[in-house]
Amino acid sequence: MPRGTSTGSAPRCGERPEPGSSTLSAALASTGGDDGPVTAAPTAGPLPGTDGGSSLDDLADLVADGDVVVLSGAGLSTDSGIPDYRGATGRLRRHTPMTYQTFTRDPRGRHRYWARSFVGWRQIRAARPNDGHLAVAELQAAGLVGGLITQNVDGLHQAGGARDVLELHGGLDRTVCLGCGDVADRGELDERLRAANPHFGPRVDEVNPDGDAELPDEVLDGFVMVDCLACGGGPLKPDVVFFGETVPRDRVERCFGLVEEARSLLVLGSSLAVMSGYRFVLRAAKLGIPVAIVTVGPTRGDGKAAVRLDAPLGVVLPDLAARLAG
Ligand SMILES: [Zn+2]
Repeated sequence: MPRGTSTGSAPRCGERPEPGSSTLSAALASTGGDDGPVTAAPTAGPLPGTDGGSSLDDLADLVADGDVVVLSGAGLSTDSGIPDYRGATGRLRRHTPMTYQTFTRDPRGRHRYWARSFVGWRQIRAARPNDGHLAVAELQAAGLVGGLITQNVDGLHQAGGARDVLELHGGLDRTVCLGCGDVADRGELDERLRAANPHFGPRVDEVNPDGDAELPDEVLDGFVMVDCLACGGGPLKPDVVFFGETVPRDRVERCFGLVEEARSLLVLGSSLAVMSGYRFVLRAAKLGIPVAIVTVGPTRGDGKAAVRLDAPLGVVLPDLAARLAG
């Protein structure tokens, strides 16, 4: 089977890059969702009057009061080797995530998604929680964090010991059948895919340092997808919210409930580029609940933040946990 040259291969002349045209982005392809389809809004630039001048003391004072609800985004997982599309390094990424419309309406696009996702899943499965995830779990165990909402679909909060994680955009460790609604374990699907595709995938030298791999279309078309075990049909979809898809209303309401009962809202590693997460900042601000944001680079919520640290989570969170939960 021809593999072609994979790393850094450009789209053919006149061809638009296909959504989700990398393995990791395919495996991760989420996320958006709001009342109605949501697209990725451009991240706001720095807002007047916000200089990111808060200190760790300010943050510690807020968190020490307890009843904190955490809202985490992709920036928390970059230290685990999972790329951030919209963060400081993510904006320049070549690929746009898969959309719900493409996934549901274009069988060929869906087939190629699963082919790339099959490869990308190996990186996802190999990812481990980093010091930031562990620190959040420590703060939760110390009774300071009362609720944990994540926009991430990688399961790393749970792997780091956090409990009761509300996965706003779903999780990659499950699949859902769009035909019968059956929810199944992704690991089980992976076993079946491996059996059906014993020789499929890039060579080791075809994988970029960040885990992405380009696979030519003719290779992707040779991938064999499997059916839903429950109904024998499908199609199967990762149990994540794609761009252009709506987050289930009851899930959104549970998140709003957590925010409304909180003493403060702590945003970690999100530029708040999509309304899906930003609306919780708006709700907190409206209710006078202080918002703290720790993220590298500007965020759309900076003008609403009582505490704003433009600093690496892998430094700030362990320091915070050592002070308050050590
Ligand atoms: Zn089914």
